[in-house]
Amino acid sequence: MTTSLKKRSKEIYQITLPTPFLVGPINTYLIFGDALTLVDTGPLTDEALYQMKRQLAELNLSLNDIELVVLTHHHPDHIGLVQKFLPNAKVVGHPKLKPWLEKDEKFLTNTRAYFRRFYKENGVPEQWIEEMDRINRYYMAYTERASLDTELIENDSIEGIPGWTVLETPGHAQSHISLLHEKNSTMIAGDHLIAHISSNAIVEAPYWNEQKRPKTLLQYRDALEKCKGARMIYSGHGDAIDKPKELIEKRLRAMEEKAQVFKRKMGNDPFQVFQLSKQLYPKIYEKQTALTFSETLGHIDMLEEQGEVSSYKEGNAVYYQKT
Ligand SMILES: [Zn+2]
Repeated sequence: MTTSLKKRSKEIYQITLPTPFLVGPINTYLIFGDALTLVDTGPLTDEALYQMKRQLAELNLSLNDIELVVLTHHHPDHIGLVQKFLPNAKVVGHPKLKPWLEKDEKFLTNTRAYFRRFYKENGVPEQWIEEMDRINRYYMAYTERASLDTELIENDSIEGIPGWTVLETPGHAQSHISLLHEKNSTMIAGDHLIAHISSNAIVEAPYWNEQKRPKTLLQYRDALEKCKGARMIYSGHGDAIDKPKELIEKRLRAMEEKAQVFKRKMGNDPFQVFQLSKQLYPKIYEKQTALTFSETLGHIDMLEEQGEVSSYKEGNAVYYQKT
């Protein structure tokens, strides 16, 4: 496992930390701006904290020297250690990060209730709904409550790191932002684009008074288009991406091809999302129920958008069918 300090440019260092998750190590980034800034923190584990301290020490720095923490999105490997930089650092991120970071009880309860209903409507048996809920709680244990000092939205500049602006890049997470250095077209893009794996557009519940669930794969595709002009992208996992446009086009094409494969597997009868995801991922749907469900639903959303699939509700059950 590579957990080491790497100089990426005159002002950017990459600090790689271990995670207990399938995705493997995470890259956080130190920016020497007007404020000493850290983009993402690593998960709340002793090993990640140890590595963070050790790599900061290589630059003669300690946790207390960090003045600004920018969080790309709410997943535990990105926000888990945020408390360790308080009270010295200011914490900034997207408004949709706030309820996760602050562990807003009402929001979390609503989200859990939404998913119970939603999964049920889409044919997921009770035992898997319970299991996904249990796994979500397990992930949350790798985070600690913190408050968000400043909310960042599209095109905001970030106080403390002049030259960097915010791009909203939802899809993988609703709270996802990427940082763009306009002058040299460099991005720090969290999990938005990863060199060695395709990022999952994870299904999420509507936020606050939103009426409908976001169609995350469609959002994700739009947000990928926005990054085609970047010259270099630093990711939350794996290597830096030096030909972003090529990789983005490859990812977009792969989704279209996958949607067509799914379409061929659908048959002509009405089906439910869970039923199809079992059929598509017979070996992993039990272990990775949420991810395989998201992947299946995302491509169904794409096909529905293209008019190739339609949906209807019967009682409390949602069905899809080829048109
Ligand atoms: Zn993530």
